[in-house]
Amino acid sequence: MPIYEYKCSKCKRPFSVLQKTGTTEKDTVCPDCGSNAVKKLLSAFSCSAAGGDAFIPSASGRACGGG
Ligand SMILES: [Zn+2]
Repeated sequence: MPIYEYKCSKCKRPFSVLQKTGTTEKDTVCPDCGSNAVKKLLSAFSCSAAGGDAFIPSASGRACGGG
């Protein structure tokens, strides 16, 4: 499953969630305030911790680590 980056429009906090492909903002709520007024920022690459099919981009110097 890919990790998606969202930002809450209510408390302005960014967060990332592990979701199935096709999940929309409506299906996502802010883990901090519980609001569903969230905005999808971009899709990040899933780390090896997320599953066995991690994709490591060769052009990127940093795939996992932030957190
Ligand atoms: Zn929030």
